[in-house]
Amino acid sequence: MAARAGEGGAQGCGDGGLPGAVLFDRDDTLVVDVPYNGDPERVRLMPGARAAVRLLRARGVPVGVVSNQSGIGRGLITETQVREVNARVDALLGRPLDVWVHCPHVPEDGCACRKPAPGLVLRAARALGVAAQRCVVIGDIGADMGAARAAGARGVLVPTTRTLPVEVAEAPDVCRDLLGAVRHVLGHPSTVRRPV
Ligand SMILES: [Mg+2]
Ligand SMILES: [Zn+2]
Repeated sequence: MAARAGEGGAQGCGDGGLPGAVLFDRDDTLVVDVPYNGDPERVRLMPGARAAVRLLRARGVPVGVVSNQSGIGRGLITETQVREVNARVDALLGRPLDVWVHCPHVPEDGCACRKPAPGLVLRAARALGVAAQRCVVIGDIGADMGAARAAGARGVLVPTTRTLPVEVAEAPDVCRDLLGAVRHVLGHPSTVRRPV
């Protein structure tokens, strides 16, 4: 497990308080992205995901997911399939997360929920009874950071090889992996900002 921490470029949490909630992106953040996946059998957790969620639970921080699922709007997968995949993620994490919200729309719909719009973050925060300003959004692309910013939440980027350099450069915070990101938002010195 990638339990490293405290490597170069460390930067503290700031206010020292716990977040009101942590909202993960799903694909390529919490689980390995399988485009338009409707098959629970194909779900694989990302490195550090289980430890990251376990750490948040141990601190009593609510954990949710905010996910764009345009495959629904494109007719490639059904709502039921998305819920089955989400249930598999819950099972792999030991028990259900505190809230799951997803956007079923395609970009052309111009909805208020597809990230980088703030709708999913606002909806999840409301469901948890937490102010969006106290939420942290952890994701792998710029749209996740945009949604966080638009909702008044804090964004932390955990890049993959598919994350664009400009998205890394513009992210408010960049961490190496999920556990590092969670340790960071809990106030541990574990941020690593990569050179771009
Ligand atoms: Mg993603
Ligand atoms: Zn939407």
